[in-house]
Order: sequence, then structure tokens, then C-alpha cells
Amino acid sequence: MNQSPAIRHALNTKREDDFAQWYQEVISEAEMAEESGVRGCMVIKPWGYGIWERIQRLMDDRIKAAGVQNCYFPLFIPLSYFAKEAEHVEGFAKEMAVVTHHRLVSDGKGGLTPDPEAKLEEPLIVRPTSETVIGAAMSRWVQSWRDLPLLTNQWANVVRWEMRTRMFLRTSEFLWQEGHTAHADRDDAMVETLRALEMYRDFAETELAMPVIAGEKPENERFPGAVATYSIEAMMQDGKALQAGTSHYLGTGFAHAAGIQYQDKEGVQQYCHTTSWGTSTRMIGGLIMTHGDDDGLRVPPMVAPHQIVVLPMLRDGPEDEALLAYCADLTKALSALTAFSEPVRVLLDKRPGKATQKRWSWVKKGVPLVLEIGGRDAAGGQVSMLRRDRLWNAAAKANFVGLAKDEFVARAVAELEDIQASLFNEAKAKRDAKIEKVDSFDALAAFFSEDKRYPGWAEVVWSRPSGAELDAVVQRLKALKLTIRNTPMNGAEVSGPCIFTDRPAVERIYVARAY
Ligand code: AMP
Repeated sequence: MNQSPAIRHALNTKREDDFAQWYQEVISEAEMAEESGVRGCMVIKPWGYGIWERIQRLMDDRIKAAGVQNCYFPLFIPLSYFAKEAEHVEGFAKEMAVVTHHRLVSDGKGGLTPDPEAKLEEPLIVRPTSETVIGAAMSRWVQSWRDLPLLTNQWANVVRWEMRTRMFLRTSEFLWQEGHTAHADRDDAMVETLRALEMYRDFAETELAMPVIAGEKPENERFPGAVATYSIEAMMQDGKALQAGTSHYLGTGFAHAAGIQYQDKEGVQQYCHTTSWGTSTRMIGGLIMTHGDDDGLRVPPMVAPHQIVVLPMLRDGPEDEALLAYCADLTKALSALTAFSEPVRVLLDKRPGKATQKRWSWVKKGVPLVLEIGGRDAAGGQVSMLRRDRLWNAAAKANFVGLAKDEFVARAVAELEDIQASLFNEAKAKRDAKIEKVDSFDALAAFFSEDKRYPGWAEVVWSRPSGAELDAVVQRLKALKLTIRNTPMNGAEVSGPCIFTDRPAVERIYVARAY
């Protein structure tokens, strides 16, 4: 038998052996983030933050293109603001950090303690989300129908005291953008809610190369205080679902709570209909679990802080000078190119150290293209290109392709575009292969039976039960550690009985284990 040679991967843990451990290893080996000492709060290192800055930049362009303006609102929100919207405060009460004092005094034992004399009259909440404080501002900013729609967004950190945390995916403090808009009526607010959802879908698939399903969340998964919640759901390589962004139609509940009113064209006072929508640093977790492999992260070129790394194989001798000049020249030529409507981001890695070690550090970080240049390449006008998405050749060797320098410069942009597309196609093929149509509750239980490692998602049809009937469905699913993800938008007609109630089904839903 022809045994293919074994590949020696850059990580110790393989995805198929222990996905959770593999995830942590990618984050530390790619130097993206580390624990901070405060549970659930992470230090984001330059490579992780660089990816966040790319995400921020590209998402911000889309937000502004939709006519939404950025603002900044305070970190602290008076408790009384929350109390005005009963469902909202109830939903977030269990995870709010509260500030009660504004000064410390000596405790008499060499330490410090909050000064009882400096107790705040009203506790302040460290924002878990900003509907209430932005609502208060909107009530001042909106007077007449001419002020509508009011379209705002803020980039900020928020705090939700999560019990089970995991870096990027679920942290107690996270970075995000939150859009908040006010409209004259339901229709206009709904258009905005769905516009934001579609923006997220397109962003996830285009910029992050991460296929998602956009749809409506079931009633039990709504944002506290929302009338309808929509999400984009991505499938991770272990088959679990990740809610990667949400958009909410809030009805008039928050407008009533904060007094966001306007005078309509007939001179009548009306309450606004509001929306909110958010995506966070969780998207980076999604990126890792969608594209990472047993050698580390693979970053789609559109969000890669460096798209190309030029790596001279320095020898610490006089010959280095010519090699560096050649590499500087190459870097300059590549930096003058435009890919995805932006200048190509190229790094010349002149750090001392062994070239192979540096190569593997970039592989683990997932830089799309690494160019390794030795003295002979420089003398012969060549480059050796390593494409991160196709790392290994048939001989289990790093798959370097030798090219003339000019030829590489001429095709670098096409290579980056091809990597962006092939990462998406690969992820979509993996996801689609793991979605199975299931037509009974027993078949659903069998699909998620314990012996299956990474089953994927089940697509089922249901009668859209609500209230107590929905609660019963949720409990049955919970026993199998399952949740309803969403009902896809523009779903095709469905037929047959609901797998939970046996009544005629009205729509399709995805059921899955989730992060
Ligand atoms: P929400 O305001 O609850 O709709 O949250 C908006 C988005 O923020 C969600 O869709 C998630 O992608 C993200 N998110 C929520 N909670 C966390 C968390 N603890 N850590 C990171 N991201 C989060």
C-alpha cells in the first residue's frame, strides 16, 4: 500500500481530537489574546486586535454608507433607566456589574474599602447594552416627524457578567458596535431591522468568508424587551452554531420607557418605533472556528492585518544586504497594488531569528501569503510563495511555489482574491454537508445521539408554537442540549406535520448545539 507521508502540524492538538483545546491553542499560538486575571476578561494582543481593527474599519464603512452616524454614550447608566423597561431589566439583571461608591478609605488593616460616606445616591450600571441611555438622548433629539429616522451607532465596550466564558466567543467584557435607530412607524423600523440583518449577512460572507444563515429567532430567544429578534448563525467546524450578530425590532416599548415622541404631520404626538443591532469581538471567535486548521489560524485576506509577509532568509553576514534590498524592492512593488479596493498590506519581516521559525509563526497567525526569499531567489529574481489555505503538498512538505518576482507581483492580487473565495467555498461546503433534513422528533434525537462527535444542524419544519407550548418544545430540546437557531429569511414553502406538535408546519427552523 502507498502510505502518504505524515504531516507534522504546527499545533499539538488536532481539531478532531479536542476541538475546545485546539481553539485555545490557536488563540495562544497565534498570539491573539490571553487571560487577564479577571475572570472572563481578556487581553487582546496585537494580532487579535489587528483583526478587530480590520473588522471595525470595514463594518464602519458599511454602517456609514447606510446613513448611520457614530456617537458616544456614557459607560455608566443610572439603575432607574433600566427599571423603566420591565422585560429589559429582568433580562439583564442577572449579569449586571454595579457601581455603588465613588471613593475608597483605609480599612484599618492596611487595605482599602469603599467609603460609606461616598455611597452613590443611585447605583450606576456598567452598560450591558445602551438602549436605555440612548433612548434618553433620543427623547431629547426627536421632536417632530422631520427628525426621523434617527440613525445612530456606537463603538464601545460592554459588560455582561457571564458565568461560562470563553475567549472571544463569550467574555464578560466585550467590544462591539451597537446601532440604535428611531422611526415614525413600524414599517420603517422593520425595514431598518432587516437592512442591518442583511448588512451582517453580507459582511460575514464577504469580509469574513463565513457562510451564515440569516433568520428570525424564536420567541423564547428574543432580546429582552424586543418584539422580534433576527440573527445570523454560522456553523463552526465542530458542527455547533454560533450566533454571530443580531438585529432587533423593539416596537414602541423603549420609546414609552424613555419618552421618545414626535409630532406627526397632522400635529399629533406619536411614539417612535425603535431598533437595535449589534456585532462583537465574538466574530473573531467565529473566524477561528470557521477557518482555523491543525496549523493554526487562517485569516481571510480582507480582514488580515498583513495580507503578505516577505520573509528574507537572513544569514547574519554581508550577503544579507543584497537580499534585504531585493526584499525591500519587492515589498514596495506589492504595497503599490490594490486588492479589495484598498492598498495591499505587506510586511517585510526583518526581525533577527531563524527563517523557519518565523515562517511557522506567520503560518500559525494565518497570514494568507508568505514569501520566503533566500539568497539564491534574490540572485535569480525569484520568490517562493506559500499559500496559507493550501499549506501542504502531496509529499507532506510545505507547499512552496517558485515564481519569477515580476510574475508574482502581477498575480498577487488574484491570489488574494482566490484565497478569500476559496476560504468561503471550503467553509460553505463543510457547512452544507453537515445540515440534514429531519422529519420526526425521534429522527432528531438520533441525529444528535451521543456517539456522534460533531453532528451539525438539523433542518426541521414546525407549526411555530408560542407561549406554554413553545416552552414545552424548548424543554424537550434542552434535554438533548439543543436549541432552535432561527427561521431562515425568504424560506421556501413547507409542507408536512410539525415534528413537535404534529399540526401542519408553517416554516422551517434550524436546530443545533450552540456556543
Ligand atoms: P445582543 O445585544 O444580546 O443582541 O448581542 C449582540 C451581539 O453581541 C450578539 O449577537 C453576539 O454576537 C454578541 N455578544 C453577546 N454576548 C456576548 C458576549 N458575552 N461576548 C461576546 N459577544 C457577545
